[in-house]
Amino acid sequence: MDLKSAIRTIPDYPKPGIMFRDVTTLIGDARAFRVAVDRMVQPWAGAKIDRVAGTEARGFILGGAVAHQLSVGFTPVRKRGKLPHRTLIEEYELEYGQDAIEIHVDAIQENDRVLLVDDLIATGGTAEASIRLLQRAGATVVGAAFVIDLPDLGGAKRIEAMGVPVSSLVQYE
Ligand code: 5GP
Repeated sequence: MDLKSAIRTIPDYPKPGIMFRDVTTLIGDARAFRVAVDRMVQPWAGAKIDRVAGTEARGFILGGAVAHQLSVGFTPVRKRGKLPHRTLIEEYELEYGQDAIEIHVDAIQENDRVLLVDDLIATGGTAEASIRLLQRAGATVVGAAFVIDLPDLGGAKRIEAMGVPVSSLVQYE
């Protein structure tokens, strides 16, 4: 199945010149969602994953399904200020300014083998911050799985340079 045909592209969102890859159409299509989750899991099926972590917000939808498929627990990596218990926080640079993500201090067991999941990797800034946060919490980040890679922006290379292998299902120039 061609998953690209299930992904909608919105030109000039959120600002002029950006082609936004909208995965809500993919996850809204029963067959495409099933195929995408199966393909995301496949490279990691033998990797002894203990836990999936997913980045807010589309990483929750895909990561939850991947975790269920691997029969492991799920850890949400949230935007600043959303988690109720004590957290670890990691700040990272955006194109304009800064953002921060958090996990609960007790979300990861020491040496948990974690698979990070998100819908899309662009510059890799979000994934790099998520990996640093998980590593600070004691995780061994075994890999990072995305539906979409934008290879021209170099994110996958940046994550692999951290020693974390990356998988993706479709790529756009
Ligand atoms: P990065 O930090 O790699 O530059 O950007 C990736 C993050 O931004 C991901 O959390 C992803 O969900 C979001 N993102 C950036 N561009 C797009 C896009 O075109 N489509 C979608 N669905 N998410 C995007």
